[in-house]
Amino acid sequence: MQVVSNDNDYFMKLYNTLLVLVLSAIALCLSGCFKWAARAKDKLPQETALDKTYSYKGKVIIIGAGASGLAAAKVLEQNNIEYIILEATDRYGGRLKKDTTLADFPIDVGAEWIHSAPITLNKLKGKKGDEIDEELIPYYTENTASWDGENYKVNPSWQNKAMYNFLPESKFKNSTWYDFVNENIAKTVKHKIKFNAPVTEINYTDNTVIVKTENGDSYEADKVIVTVSIGVLKSKKINFIPEMGEKKKKAIESITFHQGFKVAMKFSEKFYPDFVNCKVKSGEKGFYDIAFKKNSQTNILGFLCTGIETQKYYDLNSEQEIISTLLQELDEIFDGKATATYTGDYILENWGQNEFIQGTWTQAIQEKKTHLKILNQSLDNKVYFAGEIYDPYQQMGVPGAILSGYYSIDRLLSDEK
Ligand SMILES: Cc1cc2nc3c(=O)[nH]c(=O)nc-3n(C[C@H](O)[C@H](O)[C@H](O)COP(=O)(O)OP(=O)(O)OC[C@H]3O[C@@H](n4cnc5c(N)ncnc54)[C@H](O)[C@@H]3O)c2cc1C
Repeated sequence: MQVVSNDNDYFMKLYNTLLVLVLSAIALCLSGCFKWAARAKDKLPQETALDKTYSYKGKVIIIGAGASGLAAAKVLEQNNIEYIILEATDRYGGRLKKDTTLADFPIDVGAEWIHSAPITLNKLKGKKGDEIDEELIPYYTENTASWDGENYKVNPSWQNKAMYNFLPESKFKNSTWYDFVNENIAKTVKHKIKFNAPVTEINYTDNTVIVKTENGDSYEADKVIVTVSIGVLKSKKINFIPEMGEKKKKAIESITFHQGFKVAMKFSEKFYPDFVNCKVKSGEKGFYDIAFKKNSQTNILGFLCTGIETQKYYDLNSEQEIISTLLQELDEIFDGKATATYTGDYILENWGQNEFIQGTWTQAIQEKKTHLKILNQSLDNKVYFAGEIYDPYQQMGVPGAILSGYYSIDRLLSDEK
């Protein structure tokens, strides 16, 4: 009897300890101690290339005019260094894009949320101090639900609060990520972009690097910085001469870069909550109120899908079929209200099948550190890499892309040779 009682004591103690641990974790979450943005803020660099001066005398070619390429260019412009930007498409911004046709506010067609602490915006544009110029919307959604294909479940308010405390994101109130980069970075460098110039070859055999584009043009520089997405590198659209080493190729292949697309649809009534998370096997799928706290008179519902689930929509024959399928899914959740109130207006951006993007976003935090280190290595101190996945400060998305632009151009300008 005595022995049994001791066992009971032991298990009671273990149970109590576990209970305290679980409750403490929930309490910490609720009190905001696990805040992602707060931790990411600690990882921001004290200074970036914007705060330094360089006396580099060579010529630089930047490949890609997305956030990271434009950021690298800003440093070159600031230091009067000779450079050009070769951009495959007829626009700059890459995965940043805005639409002003669908709603009474500008819609982010690509990157939308500010995952980092707001102060990060100052670091990105080289502004000192804690006061930010942008008006932001804290993304604290109080009305969210989940849908597993059969059951619709409203999330309890403690879960919404815990989510916000863990990942306190925000959105621009009257503008977009594209506007932010356009105003603070692209404005002074866009005259140096050569549009419709897809790079097909980078030959770094000799001291001078030779870059060739699809239309047969050839450019020379002392150093090159490649800012195309990891998806474009995986697709082998760019031929490196000599070839990249096996370790580098393996590191590129190892990075997860999900396919995906984004849709914004207009309705005459708002029948949906702030966010509906749809259960999927991999990647993300969700419907969300794009007009959330935007002071808008229009009802714009967003849909974001990445990963394996995307294929189901890619297998459909047209955009119209994708929209019809989404309306059917919404009708199932909201008793036919979607079809009844749909205005027929939408925008759809298929980033995964865009030849010069080939995916959505990467998450460095989920990748092997050794691979990230190899990715960041230059080819013979002549060809450098920048973009969201190369960010050494562990910010997500756009801030990561911009900071990596500053980081890589600093290395390019500082390295010997
Ligand atoms: C749907 C979606 C939602 C997102 N949501 C968020 C979000 O909410 N918050 C966030 O912070 N981030 C988000 N992101 C990620 C964010 O958009 C990216 O991290 C960031 O924009 C990447 O910038 P980049 O300069 O590294 O690459 P890119 O934007 O991909 O720029 C690369 C540029 O290179 C050009 N290019 C490609 N190939 C060639 C070639 N051969 N020759 C010349 N030029 C070439 C491309 O046209 C492009 O302009 C989202 C992305 C997507 C797609």
